[in-house]
Amino acid sequence: MKLNETERKQRIDRFEGNVRLLVNALQHLTSEIQPHKSGLPVLTMGFYNLLLRSKQEYLVDLFLQGVPESTKLVLGKQGFTIADLLSLPRLSASKLSEHTVYIDCLEYAPKEDGDWRLYVGSATGSYGALQRWLNYLCPSKEKFRHTNMCQKKGRRVHLRSLSHYGFDPEPWLAVFAESIFMLYLGTVDDPRATWTTWAGNNFCHDLLYSTVEKVRSSSNLDQPLRRGLNSTWSLAQGWRGGGFKPGTKCHRCGLRVDDPSAKKKVRFYHTDPSQPSASDALCHLCYDYKRRMGKDRPDATLHYNRPPRIDHGTPCRNCGRVAGDPSLGKMRFHYTDPKEASPSNVLCNTCYDYKKKRGTDRPARLFQK
Ligand SMILES: [Zn+2]
Ligand SMILES: [Zn+2]
Repeated sequence: MKLNETERKQRIDRFEGNVRLLVNALQHLTSEIQPHKSGLPVLTMGFYNLLLRSKQEYLVDLFLQGVPESTKLVLGKQGFTIADLLSLPRLSASKLSEHTVYIDCLEYAPKEDGDWRLYVGSATGSYGALQRWLNYLCPSKEKFRHTNMCQKKGRRVHLRSLSHYGFDPEPWLAVFAESIFMLYLGTVDDPRATWTTWAGNNFCHDLLYSTVEKVRSSSNLDQPLRRGLNSTWSLAQGWRGGGFKPGTKCHRCGLRVDDPSAKKKVRFYHTDPSQPSASDALCHLCYDYKRRMGKDRPDATLHYNRPPRIDHGTPCRNCGRVAGDPSLGKMRFHYTDPKEASPSNVLCNTCYDYKKKRGTDRPARLFQK
């Protein structure tokens, strides 16, 4: 069916508007929780801090960046149906390998009730949805609840992707998006009602379901289309916070968050806590200086900007003597250029001094006997 321009725009606006209301409600809820006193957790500390500190637009924008227009047109339609969900286009294998949020419209066997159930999931592994979906479709040893549900006799799995976020997004993004879609589609449902035997699970509890209800009711959403198969939302079990990508450097002094030579652990902060990107870090000293003095740490005080320590066993690239060799006593070894801190750049103290004084390498006749 071809949509006219007005209808398209209405649907997109409706979808984005609802997402904004959901994020707003989540942030409002977070501001009311005392995380350590709330008993069973509805949010991990990671999500608690993220929701508390982030600007709403930051969360909404990142979420929407991964949502294709096709998804907005389907979910933005008033009273969308199962058929609408099934009309979501299939993505290329390359897009499906990204961090993905997907929906399974699970068709129950005719002898059960032949009805549909909805499940929202996310895939952040190396092959994204492709890898995740393989487990649903093929007999596998995986014991996840949803995998088992998919493989009951006579049921049919209908998988569609809802959004995709590239191969290296913010570490929380797909998990966060998963919960937004769970809320949007109303797929979080208390499974205890249908349990015949106790299958205890810390993530199933009344507070969680009442919270989900509260957040949903503050938006402009339809009633859930069908019963959901998500027994919890990913905000309670997914990302636990922390969050700088390996190799990220303090953008003032250059200290790496995972500096292999760091003697003690240094705390890192986001430059702007309201937009906590995992590749934007300030080390404790630079952060603290800026907070106290209102300006960047001056160059002269950037102590952390030292090259990594030289490991024992690394040879001098000129004379071949080895760092840590007991016969050298406590001789220091250096990098020729502190900015090029690689093992192939290492000089023993003698060769280093020689080079510093004369500008050339210590000649071999001085150390070869
Ligand atoms: Zn720093
Ligand atoms: Zn040497």
